Amino acid sequence: MATKVLGPSGLRSLIDLLHAGGYTVIGPTVADGTIVYGSIASIDDLPIGWTDTQEAGSYGIERREDDSFFAYNVGPRSLRHYLFPPRQTLLTIEHAETGLRFCQEPPDNIRYAFVGVRACELAAVAIQDAVFLDSPHADPNYARAREHSFTIGVNCAVAGGTCFCASMGKGPSCTAGYDLVVTEVIEESHHEFVVEAGTEDGADLLGRVEGRQATDQDAGVVDAIVKETARNMGRAMPTHGLRDLMVEGFDSPTWDSVAQRCLSCTSCTLVCPTCFCSTMSDTTDLVGTARRERTWDSCFSLEFTYLHGHSVRSSTGARYRQWITHKLGWWHDQFGISGCVGCGRCITWCPVGIDITEEVAKLAGRAEAIA
Ligand code: SF4
Ligand code: SF4
Repeated sequence: MATKVLGPSGLRSLIDLLHAGGYTVIGPTVADGTIVYGSIASIDDLPIGWTDTQEAGSYGIERREDDSFFAYNVGPRSLRHYLFPPRQTLLTIEHAETGLRFCQEPPDNIRYAFVGVRACELAAVAIQDAVFLDSPHADPNYARAREHSFTIGVNCAVAGGTCFCASMGKGPSCTAGYDLVVTEVIEESHHEFVVEAGTEDGADLLGRVEGRQATDQDAGVVDAIVKETARNMGRAMPTHGLRDLMVEGFDSPTWDSVAQRCLSCTSCTLVCPTCFCSTMSDTTDLVGTARRERTWDSCFSLEFTYLHGHSVRSSTGARYRQWITHKLGWWHDQFGISGCVGCGRCITWCPVGIDITEEVAKLAGRAEAIA
């Protein structure tokens, strides 16, 4: 596949061409004190010269001394906000002369171009594909949004304080799921973007912008950048035998211990790029039109497992255990992959700083002590 080296003006042209092609372009923006996906009209809307700082239970943004475009990590919003929106109308039922008329809401007609998508995010989209598409009952809204999207990935050049994608084998370099992938190179003498095509569509777009052909030296620079990022990653998940650890640790005291701090606030599930739980609600307006809506739900809410008369997981410990053992254990049985990509969002955005890598390490330590 083609690889070119562009200057900032070449990157500007890429985004302009996406707009001209009818795409709604989504990329990182500065909003409400965060770097978060939003609509971008041009490269001027990217967080130029900004970075973020992330630790367990803490997030901030600050100015850098250069004009970097992509020197930060993932924010609180993931691509599932666009591919599987927090609230979606699925069905309306209206009165008609012949009786009731059932209308399935057509999928949105938007064609998304996602810019600045990290390797962990691409891996999360692949997981959501397995959930929503690889089934006898594929989700038509998700399928429509995925089928018509265009993705520009970014190889991470800085490691986040809560990231652990390298230990999960999901980053920091993008290996699949992109049309184009960008590596930002900032040196004293130049500021460039090494852009590699991953699909024919990507190669076609790249062929339409000004730039020079990449050399072996450029490939070496890209390789060195991602290796350095992997070395500097803030955390690591002890991944060996995770699925079996989840089975063996079902009755571990770890769950009660984490429940002493967990607020059951659901934040971790709302920021996680792979969570997919939802609930349905039916409402009727004064005219008599009924509407069925799907909204995100969370296994941390008490109502999530409410059956007749009670909730199946009534304790916080049981709900936390469900979350982790599903992500890291049962997901393998359901989908053949881990449900965690190591993006670190659940660590950063947990108000009390509960760290999934630490809790798994404790679980592994207790299992070893017993063995
Ligand atoms: S469990 Fe946490 S680290 Fe893993 S994908 Fe979800 S938010 Fe990211
Ligand atoms: S682990 Fe943290 S983010 Fe998740 S529900 Fe508990 S307190 Fe909230």
